[in-house]
Amino acid sequence: MTHETIGNFINGEWSKGSLKTVKNINPATGESLGEVVLSGKAEADAAVAAARAALPAWKRTPAPRRGEILQRAAVEMTRRKEELARALTAEEGKLYTESLGEVQKAINNIEFQSGEGRRLNGETVPSELPSTMCWTQREALGVVALVTPWNFPVAIPVWKLCPALICGNTVVLKPASITPWCAKIIAEIFTAAGLPKGVLNVVFGPGSSVGQTLVTHPDVAAISFTGSNEVGLKLYADGAAHHKKVQCEMGGKNPVIVLEDADLELAATATVQGAFGSTGQRCTATSRAIVCSPVLAEFTKLVVEKTRQLRVPEHMGPCVDDGQFRTVMSYLEIGKREAKLAVGGEQVGDKGFYVAPTVFTGCKAEMRIAQEEVFGPVLAVIEVKDFEEAMKVANGVKFGLTSSIFSRDVNRVFQYLEHIETGITHVNSPTVGGEAQLPFGGMKATGVGAREMGRTAIEFYSEWKTVYVDYTGGKRTTNIY
Ligand code: NAP
Ligand code: MG
Repeated sequence: MTHETIGNFINGEWSKGSLKTVKNINPATGESLGEVVLSGKAEADAAVAAARAALPAWKRTPAPRRGEILQRAAVEMTRRKEELARALTAEEGKLYTESLGEVQKAINNIEFQSGEGRRLNGETVPSELPSTMCWTQREALGVVALVTPWNFPVAIPVWKLCPALICGNTVVLKPASITPWCAKIIAEIFTAAGLPKGVLNVVFGPGSSVGQTLVTHPDVAAISFTGSNEVGLKLYADGAAHHKKVQCEMGGKNPVIVLEDADLELAATATVQGAFGSTGQRCTATSRAIVCSPVLAEFTKLVVEKTRQLRVPEHMGPCVDDGQFRTVMSYLEIGKREAKLAVGGEQVGDKGFYVAPTVFTGCKAEMRIAQEEVFGPVLAVIEVKDFEEAMKVANGVKFGLTSSIFSRDVNRVFQYLEHIETGITHVNSPTVGGEAQLPFGGMKATGVGAREMGRTAIEFYSEWKTVYVDYTGGKRTTNIY
């Protein structure tokens, strides 16, 4: 599979241009899929200018009409589902079935947010004064920049784009440099659905130039970022210093807690699925199993057995690129020094960036392997004596994205739900997954700003205008202070 050179999409035109290009590498083979332009500040500026020019007309378009364009985009993405999933697998490396799942998740988000066009409600609120009407209405922010990662290169741009558009904003998308093909197809789909030119612009190029230009640009009102903590924290500070609304969704170190009364077969299956699905390259991946002593041996045996049954590449794709592969390999070495390797721990084959699904046992809560986000197929098993210690270990990391508990004890489960410090949590199911109609995002170092997806998504992409109308005709007698 190959693609033509991917250019920027600015003001409804695909640039051919004289820009330098870089190769888009297939992580399964190390071979090039084609080329993508490498833009800089000038192209980012041009994209913002196009988005700014398109803003007044898009803002004036009734929200239900904007919703209709999204509905058509859902139909168009459904029509191109297999093609998009194949491109996703080719450039990101996840299994084709995983790619189909991701594309469906994007479609679900488009469908859900399209309906928000008919629900952009404010409130009518009684006034303290007679003959006075008060209400609130939502307004677009303006030009919004979306900076997105490579690990969900279809779902994440789409789950940001849809609420941004439905609220009447125009958009500049800067996708991750290593997954440009998906972004190109997304732009084609929304264009085919009838999005006016300039409402969505896509610029390909390094975060350090294109991304940084958007974050500090005077005509960008808000930035929605998903990615690493290192980049996100800097972007948050830079955006704030330039008076922008910023939303960052960042890393995770998601725990599964296994109590002594758990269904161990269920817990082990869910842990393996959460740890190694999408090669562990999910912000919601399970990377710690916190297990009570009485069931540690049995649970570990089941997890190791199930991990051994995973065949690479049939059941698990490669790391996304050479950089991520090296990061994972270095954590394998760290894990071998700190803990006990139970299964995996090595590269698979000599082509592409494949690593074996890996389980470390005998991990202590403070070890690097149990504290830092690896973003690869690596699970740390940590023994605890009881529920109280499990909660302490689960909450004892800087991140707070997602979590899960396996238990049949309803009291313990509710105590867990009260005290767990994650933005999403699961009971008796894997840490992964998130539905379009529910909020998505994390606590502590994982997230800053409003939650994504669901109805809460529009909180970020709109602001309130409060309106007071005096209809006394100038006969106001009440003192208004
Ligand atoms: P990343 O390196 O932080 O990159 C994310 C995006 O930021 C990319 O588009 C990147 O561009 C851009 N960028 C880099 N430097 C920048 C700068 N100085 N200014 C502005 N933008 C800049 O993250 P990643 O490696 O793509 O993704 C993996 C991370 O995402 C993991 O930590 C994972 O947990 C997190 N993640 C979180 C969630 C969530 O919802 N919490 C979901 C998915 C992933 P380039 O590609 O050009 O470098
Ligand atoms: Mg990166």
